[in-house]
Amino acid sequence: MKLILLGAAGSGKGTLAKKITKDFGIPQLSMGDMLRDIASSGSELGKKIGDLQRQGILVSNEITFEVLKERISKNDCKNGFILDGYPRTLEQAKLLKKVTDVDAVISVELAFDEIVRRLVARRTCPKCGEIDNTAYAEYTGNCRKCQTPLFQRNDDQPESIKARLEVYKQNITPLINFYGDKVFKVSSANSPEETYKPVKNFLKNWEAKS
Ligand SMILES: [Zn+2]
Repeated sequence: MKLILLGAAGSGKGTLAKKITKDFGIPQLSMGDMLRDIASSGSELGKKIGDLQRQGILVSNEITFEVLKERISKNDCKNGFILDGYPRTLEQAKLLKKVTDVDAVISVELAFDEIVRRLVARRTCPKCGEIDNTAYAEYTGNCRKCQTPLFQRNDDQPESIKARLEVYKQNITPLINFYGDKVFKVSSANSPEETYKPVKNFLKNWEAKS
């Protein structure tokens, strides 16, 4: 089962990907993680990617495509995968189609003001990377894993969130149109469990048919 997960950062798509991975036994391929792994691997490509990221330059379509092609050829992807954070643009979707066809596209939908509300409340541990949210009843201001005081990342400030959402908005419609009837839309306005339920049914039905 080859899946693409579409959704803005903060829409809850990462949590959804983890549930699908657990139930359907296919790996979650996050472009952010793949780039970080390669950057720290010491290879030629890794050094190049590391340099670009340190300068805050966006990694090109050619590079992300090479990274992806290599990753999906690995053994753990033989029964499929969930792509998270790729493709982000129509151009990337067309590149992807050159190496593989996907079976379904899950689009996680949440109103932008709700995404902003969730993300501005997000706090990160500077030591271990754990994420918490000021809206949670059990929030203390310290990391629940290592007790370090939490902080608000620059890209969780309202202005950068809104700038990212604008870019997302420009790219999402062409992607949805490109994938046509492969797209399954789900709202993440409620709990992660409520979001996952229709997705699980959809994927179970898809499995039964193929
Ligand atoms: Zn911590």
